[in-house]
Amino acid sequence: MAAVRRKITTLRGHWTQYGHSSASALETKPEEINLKEFFFDARPVLTRKKIRPNESLEPPLSAGKSPVMAKLYFHYSTMNAGKSTALLQASHNYRERGMETYLLTARFDDRSGAGEIGSRIGISAKADGFDGNSDLFDMIEKRMKSSTLSCVFIDESQFLSYDQVWQLARAVDDLNIPVMCYGLRVDFLGKLFPGSAALLAMADEMREVRTICYCGKKATMVVRQDGDGNVITEGAQVQIGGNETYVSLCRRHWREATGERFPL
Ligand SMILES: [Zn+2]
Repeated sequence: MAAVRRKITTLRGHWTQYGHSSASALETKPEEINLKEFFFDARPVLTRKKIRPNESLEPPLSAGKSPVMAKLYFHYSTMNAGKSTALLQASHNYRERGMETYLLTARFDDRSGAGEIGSRIGISAKADGFDGNSDLFDMIEKRMKSSTLSCVFIDESQFLSYDQVWQLARAVDDLNIPVMCYGLRVDFLGKLFPGSAALLAMADEMREVRTICYCGKKATMVVRQDGDGNVITEGAQVQIGGNETYVSLCRRHWREATGERFPL
């Protein structure tokens, strides 16, 4: 430190002498300052880092070697924003690097056939199904015993139960495996799905998959329409096998479409 202070003092002297211009100081007396050595030695002084006696300037040997802690992710959006496409792309990125992924989706969702995650742009991948009785911690743990998993992906995660989100959280914490959930935030009545409510409460990281309303604003809500295009404002949260369609809207246009009868 004494050496560093000496150099600092020397340089300060130059700065004072030559009107605070380090460039002119260096041009005038280049032999006195080894610039590289000066900045390396003076790093803690220049960055105002406090140095305790005997503290090493180098990072500890363990730096960069400690295991990265896995996280629980929630990618949420409204309908038709491309969640499944984003999931399949993210999984593909892992597999392209030789890492294995485990894909899960709600069992009753058979839009693209049983045991498959499909997206509207035509790509798909095989997946295991889960229903209300599935223990996701067990499923992930079993899969990890038979292969080296790098990441778990859950599609339609709005259909997870509160307990199942806890099972995923335990898998993240105890098995140290990242879990990426993709799902809808709210239903057609503007209310949180149970799986999404639990994920919003528990996820380590949340990201919005965005899509837009016909007006160009971000769509955060969804309306359910019957076969004739009439907006439906009552019914079960989950409707399977009907000919209803869903349209994503911004909140203003969702209010307009539902006739301002909120809360629904
Ligand atoms: Zn709008």
